Amino acid sequence: MSDVIHLLPDAVANQIAAGEVIQRPASILKELVENAIDADATIIKVVIADAGRTLVQVTDNGKGMSATDARMAFERHATSKIKEAQDLFSIRTMGFRGEALASIASVAQVEMRTRREEDELGTFIEIAGNRVFKQETVQCDKGTSMLVKNLFFNVPARRRFLKSDNVEKNHLLQEFYRIALVYPDVEFLFYDQDEEIFNLPVSNTKLRIEHIFGSTKKKMNQQLLSIETETNLVNIKGFIGKPEYAQKQSHQYFFVNGRFMRHPYFYKAVLTAYDQLIQPTESPSFFIFFEADPQTIDINIHPTKTEIKFENEQAIWSILSATVKEALGKFNIIPSIDFDREGVPDIPVLRSDKEIVQPKTSFNPAYNPFGNTAYKRPSIDWNDLYKDFEGEKKNQEVMSGQHDTAPIFESKFEDAYENSGHFFQLKNRYIITSVKSGMLMIDQRNAHIRVLFDQFMKEIQHKRGMSQQLLFPESLQLMPDDYLFFEQIKSELRYVGFEFASEDGDKYLYQVTGIPAQLQSASSTVTLLNDIIDRVKHATGDVVAVIHEQIALSLAESAAIHAGQVLEKEAMTELVERLFACPIHNHTPDGKKIMAIWTEEEIKSRF
Ligand code: ADP
Ligand code: MG
Repeated sequence: MSDVIHLLPDAVANQIAAGEVIQRPASILKELVENAIDADATIIKVVIADAGRTLVQVTDNGKGMSATDARMAFERHATSKIKEAQDLFSIRTMGFRGEALASIASVAQVEMRTRREEDELGTFIEIAGNRVFKQETVQCDKGTSMLVKNLFFNVPARRRFLKSDNVEKNHLLQEFYRIALVYPDVEFLFYDQDEEIFNLPVSNTKLRIEHIFGSTKKKMNQQLLSIETETNLVNIKGFIGKPEYAQKQSHQYFFVNGRFMRHPYFYKAVLTAYDQLIQPTESPSFFIFFEADPQTIDINIHPTKTEIKFENEQAIWSILSATVKEALGKFNIIPSIDFDREGVPDIPVLRSDKEIVQPKTSFNPAYNPFGNTAYKRPSIDWNDLYKDFEGEKKNQEVMSGQHDTAPIFESKFEDAYENSGHFFQLKNRYIITSVKSGMLMIDQRNAHIRVLFDQFMKEIQHKRGMSQQLLFPESLQLMPDDYLFFEQIKSELRYVGFEFASEDGDKYLYQVTGIPAQLQSASSTVTLLNDIIDRVKHATGDVVAVIHEQIALSLAESAAIHAGQVLEKEAMTELVERLFACPIHNHTPDGKKIMAIWTEEEIKSRF
């Protein structure tokens, strides 16, 4: 038989690449405006027609191209922005793949006019489906004008995938905002055919937000609080919406080094800060700009993905959440007790002859979370206990990945934790004890979840969970699409003590014959397993870490004590000791607060 492998003709290869980069008119807008920014333009004009189907035009006053470069620009992997692989780690431009123009030209009709400042005449190129129809010298303004007509003129199938005009327009606007918000020092114009949609003068970030999202009725300016934090890991700047302006539909933008990004994990950090301040059905607006060393972020190699991974995600989570909380707190928005009201000490009866003083939030602006606070661990054998964890601490931080907070803020509590050994249980729900700085209150269930989570993680990593045999095995019937996930995590489940027997003839049916020794009862085993499968299915990030973490979390949640459970003194002591032996002990793995401190001052101010 003759050989079967052959190279795809360029036109076909380009169309495939285009599928990655150019999915809809908004992708064209993004690529062209990014190129204009990279060319140092100070004025960028966008014109669209028919929701971008028939026209997306971007004109800039940037540096333009020489005649040769103008032609080269449409070749695949032709770029002026990186030279070698190493450059990938220090990218400061929006583009770098050199694929956009080639992709656009393979699925649309393109006319380009471009001139450099130093050239008298510019270049005109007409290209469609990757075929150059015309290249000539023309008179034109300095800068570049790209006119992209009839997207997917040669790929009707792709055309059919486009959505309604409204949807496509919304995509176009979103791409536009994502760039315009980052470059307030660039003037932007946006036209839908002849209609001016935006005319954004050079301004600052706050005004740019106002110009884009504000209206005479709804002044954005008054709704925003500014945030700013500089650390050696990351600088965070931007604006967050005051809680009272939270809406069902809000404007939420994260940027890193000038690129828009999605970051569900950081999103949670922001939401956590608003906890109790807004209705669950509402969400706050925010425009948060991160600056990080490009070496510490995983620049999204995939052209259309906006998820970005940071090297120090947990630490940044804490910094972000503290930054947002501080801004909310400064404006007296966070009540002084950021704890569930249920179960807090009874507030003394109000007396009419006494003035009511609003409790104040206090924070110490000089507090440096990175400072090397001397850490005093209580006596007993906790040091030994801790040693056990020490080696794994690093591992643990990596493993616990997305949902954990960094230990950098721990010192606050550790410092304060010079314990008297007296514990008191409040409402069968909280453990109260006296510490150096005041009163420490621990949520017993959350504390137990943390302790068990760490323990399960250890067992998974060391593959040494204890199992208890079930007298009556439970049947686990899997849905076909869960089956694959289950196969993926089965061995990890064994490490914590689950045992399974498969049924002959039905690969979707298993018998659960053993469960982890810590689980109190087998009754909810099947629900628990389904819960684990579900979590793993929806998790993002490093698969193995996520599997471990989700298994450990599900197990911890199902085995942990509940609110309402009476605890003897010994049980409280043990729980608190074990909690403080955990490298991270102020948050549960999914970010819930475990403890709160009432400082002496706060307590005094109540009397
Ligand atoms: P990339 O932006 O990844 O380099 P593109 O295909 O978007 O790849 O562009 C290819 C090259 O064409 C760029 O590297 C740049 O040199 C040049 N170019 C594209 N658009 C412009 C523009 N508006 N002004 C000046 N040069 C441009
Ligand atoms: Mg580009």
